Amino acid sequence: MNLLIIRLIIFAVVFFAGLKLYRMYREWRLAQEDDTKDTEGGKMVRCSWCKVHLPEQDALRSRGEWFCCGEHRDKYLAELTDHPDDQDDPS
Ligand SMILES: [Zn+2]
Repeated sequence: MNLLIIRLIIFAVVFFAGLKLYRMYREWRLAQEDDTKDTEGGKMVRCSWCKVHLPEQDALRSRGEWFCCGEHRDKYLAELTDHPDDQDDPS
C-alpha cells in the first residue's frame, strides 16, 4: 500500500516536472523563433570591394566573402589571383 502511494507521488512529480519542462521548452522555442525572424529581416553583410552594407539575400557570396554585385566580385577575385605588387593604382 505504501509502495503504491510512493509510486503515485513519483508519477505526479514526474508529470508536473515534465509539464513545467514542456512549458519552458515552448517559451524557449517561441523566443528562438522571434530571434530568427529578427535576423532574417535585418541581417546585413558587407561588400568586400566597396564596403557597402546590404541585406544578405541581395548579396553575392564567393570564397567566403560577400559582394554587392558581380562586378565587384570579379574585381575582388581578379585582385586576389594576380597580385600587382608594383601597381598602387587599383583602377
Ligand atoms: Zn560593392
